[in-house]
Amino acid sequence: MTPDLDMLARHWLSELREELPAAIELRHRLHADPRLSGDECDTAAAVAQAIGIEFETVAGCGGWARIGPGEGDAVAVRGELDALPGTERTGASFAASEGAVHACGHDVHLAALTALARAAARVNLPAGLVLLLQPREEKYPSGAEDIARAGVLTAQGVRVVVGAHVHHDVPRGHVAAGAGPVNAASDELHITVRGTGGHGAYPHRAADPVAALAQIALGLPEMVRRTVSPMDPAVISVGSLHIGHGAANVLPSEGVLLATLRTMGREDRRLVQEAVRVLVESTARAYGVSGELTVVAGEPVLENDPDVVEASERWLTELGLGIAVPMRSLGSDDFSFYGEQAATLMSFVGVYERPGHGLPTLHDMEFLPPDDVVEDVARSMMAGYLGAVDVLAARRSAE
Ligand SMILES: [Zn+2]
Repeated sequence: MTPDLDMLARHWLSELREELPAAIELRHRLHADPRLSGDECDTAAAVAQAIGIEFETVAGCGGWARIGPGEGDAVAVRGELDALPGTERTGASFAASEGAVHACGHDVHLAALTALARAAARVNLPAGLVLLLQPREEKYPSGAEDIARAGVLTAQGVRVVVGAHVHHDVPRGHVAAGAGPVNAASDELHITVRGTGGHGAYPHRAADPVAALAQIALGLPEMVRRTVSPMDPAVISVGSLHIGHGAANVLPSEGVLLATLRTMGREDRRLVQEAVRVLVESTARAYGVSGELTVVAGEPVLENDPDVVEASERWLTELGLGIAVPMRSLGSDDFSFYGEQAATLMSFVGVYERPGHGLPTLHDMEFLPPDDVVEDVARSMMAGYLGAVDVLAARRSAE
């Protein structure tokens, strides 16, 4: 923490406070007019207009812009543009009408990013601040992956990408980060078993895939248990198992199982996929049918850079926020795609005074963070930027 940065932080924070009423008003407008993944162009345009600078288009409806020094290392901050399908039940005066809902807090993140960026334009930033308006966080194809692939981070010299997400399990006024893996790698397992259908009374004349698919479903968790150390988190959950024609006496010829695989270790991800392939193919063979596994690769593991976590936690305290116990889960966020090109920091910002107690969770149609959380998210983003600048300076002087 350098004295210069300390002065900057105080100045930036007081400029940020000026921006909050307009940011909260923007939050209400975005919330009332949510857009689903892939259809966020109007949301991006509204945010860009509120920030008041020119954005370059990226990843379809996405955009990016740079504030501060135009050359040299930069720190990026991400705001997600999309809402979820559903019908809002918050009862808020600015609630959306049917079809889409900002039930993941992205309206809060965008308002925070806007306040932070407008305030940043009036201070002297020591490193570039790259604003990422990211589409398609909730749905594939991932907007983060598209932005990373478009080369924005490398072209802008982005060394650290900062994300802040509201979370129902973190107490209000507190932020949870935690060094190392915080979210899992997520893959979809699509398993198809094919055989020969027939009459239920003459199974010896058929080779139906029902029993094979059932065995595979029960064997999947065992593949994790036999591959990944019990000290490391990993899970397979079957979400869909579809077989048969709805008749008791007709043996089907094909069945499909869909499961999600969550892993925290790079090697675990590969080993479990291999084990599942062997399970599918050999179980099918044992039952006289054929089995096929297709892996639809999703997000990689989301890892928080330990140095950036440590430095930004010092700033969080400085900026008046509390540090909560680290949040780790086998959930996934496509923010992790940025981690393939830069260091990442994802922090979770508290929503409720007393978390738990049956309060609405993320993606619940009743989930509605209070307006004050806009400021907490903005401060959290600021702490991430300042911590990243500290770390970049330390690494430069160590070179
Ligand atoms: Zn979200």
